[in-house]
Amino acid sequence: MGVISLEKSIRECYISPMKPCTKCGEEKPFDAFGVERRLSSGRQPHCRDCATKYRKRYRRERPHVHRKSNKGNYERNHPRVRARHSAWWKANKEKGREYGLRKQREKPEITARASRKWRVNNQDRVHEFNLARRARKVNAPGSGVNATDIRSVMDESLGICAYCNERKPLTVDHIEPLARGGAHDPSNLAAACSSCNSSKKTKPLIVWLAKGRRAA
Ligand SMILES: [Zn+2]
Ligand SMILES: [Zn+2]
Repeated sequence: MGVISLEKSIRECYISPMKPCTKCGEEKPFDAFGVERRLSSGRQPHCRDCATKYRKRYRRERPHVHRKSNKGNYERNHPRVRARHSAWWKANKEKGREYGLRKQREKPEITARASRKWRVNNQDRVHEFNLARRARKVNAPGSGVNATDIRSVMDESLGICAYCNERKPLTVDHIEPLARGGAHDPSNLAAACSSCNSSKKTKPLIVWLAKGRRAA
């Protein structure tokens, strides 16, 4: 504490414990005034109550000024604005793709961060894309699988592997492997742990089971 502020404190406490408010005119203790180091008294000229009143009135009378300060988030998150944006993206898919590619080229670290965040928050969609890519590669039959189908298989598993009955981290597996003409279809899905998944690989289910589920 510097000499001047120490002096100030002594003055506040012992010499003049009360101070008149310039707005309401009431004599109030120093504690009732906000700290303002730029002033010689070290306190605001008006009391805290008056300051609060003033702040509230200011916001009420000049809402646009207050709103401007958080305009970014306010605008971005407003349902009306979001609806307009998503309509634009739907109507301008080609432009949107170009825009995305340009941004990826110009600001790779920003797009990488955004896509990492999206992947963490949309794991079922990521799963959907990965399975669909594999299905496309082998031109698999079936009606296709979306994130909702994946979620329901995972939920029905109750966290237990369909093959070894153990509680482990699970992923969705094609029961009849795509490589053997299995369908990319919700009816051909099971929740399996990674060790079952990798030991089964592309073997037909019946063969793999007959071999005692060993990797071979
Ligand atoms: Zn006052
Ligand atoms: Zn398993």
